[in-house]
Amino acid sequence: MPRTRAANNESRRPRPSAVLERHTRRFLELEQGLEQLEYFCKGTVLKRMMKCGKVLCACASDPAKRHGPYFEMTYKVDGKTVNVKLTPETAPLYKAASQQYRKLKTLLNRLEKISQIILRHQGKLAQPKRRA
Ligand SMILES: [Zn+2]
Repeated sequence: MPRTRAANNESRRPRPSAVLERHTRRFLELEQGLEQLEYFCKGTVLKRMMKCGKVLCACASDPAKRHGPYFEMTYKVDGKTVNVKLTPETAPLYKAASQQYRKLKTLLNRLEKISQIILRHQGKLAQPKRRA
């Protein structure tokens, strides 16, 4: 049956519109991820234990007796590292925000890749068919 053969051909090599459809669906799914995004900020939250510098303090010899934890946020501006002190109360807020920032970057990268695929396909479809 010719109908069956056509279906087989399609499963081996999807039509451009099927490919487009699949990528368009994926694009919309990822776009929803953007809508769920919370407040974000660039940087990494660090937790540090510090020596106070007093020779007689226990922290001078015992790493387990260092002071803290102290929290800070670090990020780069024009290649220079910036440190911002955080309190134990604000540290979790910024930590969550920096995770959201990473999520945003990942999403944007994926959206861009899919966009490029879709644009390539749309470009091919928009091209007038040439006959030799
Ligand atoms: Zn100390």
